[in-house]
Amino acid sequence: MNPIATNLKLIHQQIEASCLKSGRNPQDVRLIAVSKKKPPEALEEAHNAGQNLFGESYVQEFRQKFEQLSLPLEWHFIGGLQSNKVKYLRGKTALIHSVDRYSLAREISQQWGKINQTASILLQFNLGEETSKSGASETEALQLAEQISALPHLQIRGLMTLPPYCEKPEDVRPFFRRLRLLAEKIAAANLPNTAVTELSMGMSHDFQIAIEEGATLVRIGTAIFGARD
Ligand SMILES: *Cc1c(COP(=O)(O)O)cnc(C)c1O
Repeated sequence: MNPIATNLKLIHQQIEASCLKSGRNPQDVRLIAVSKKKPPEALEEAHNAGQNLFGESYVQEFRQKFEQLSLPLEWHFIGGLQSNKVKYLRGKTALIHSVDRYSLAREISQQWGKINQTASILLQFNLGEETSKSGASETEALQLAEQISALPHLQIRGLMTLPPYCEKPEDVRPFFRRLRLLAEKIAAANLPNTAVTELSMGMSHDFQIAIEEGATLVRIGTAIFGARD
């Protein structure tokens, strides 16, 4: 087996083990292969090993891969997003994980409206309040969700976070837990166009903890494709 196939197999085993440990159904956790900065051949290899869901972080890079790869792939956009680039994602991404402000949500709604479709989005929160990371703050969460849920061509599907890096994965657990509690709070508000079913959290070095805390989407790059330059 090639290294990517081997890595994918191992990660699936680890996902199953974490689900077993926390009494969850492995089918409720989807693996997103984060392919940023990796060539199309790497995605093809992963696809040959059964991986169909990919996450990209840069609009320009996504556009190139989307054009080059004529495979039936599901694309998620997980990176910071400028409103003026939303048009390049229109109709192509199944889920945008990085919606952290009303102006961006409004632009996504407008663009998807042009093709008579509804965009699925996640609200991204910066729970560590790190200036280097995008994401809305927890204090404005409900107000932001309320505003965004009034937009016509959007569905809020859940929440996403990119917590501070911690040497020990266990130290990230409180952030994952906070995202889950925040999701419960937003779900309890019964907003229109909102079904809070997805928690996008966990990366290569902490996804097992994230699963124990309820992750439904884990975003894994390095552990599948190796280190990025
Ligand atoms: C790069 C990236 C990942 C993947 O990180 P790894 O540590 O390589 O698994 C996950 N989520 C986001 C938002 C990213 O930008």
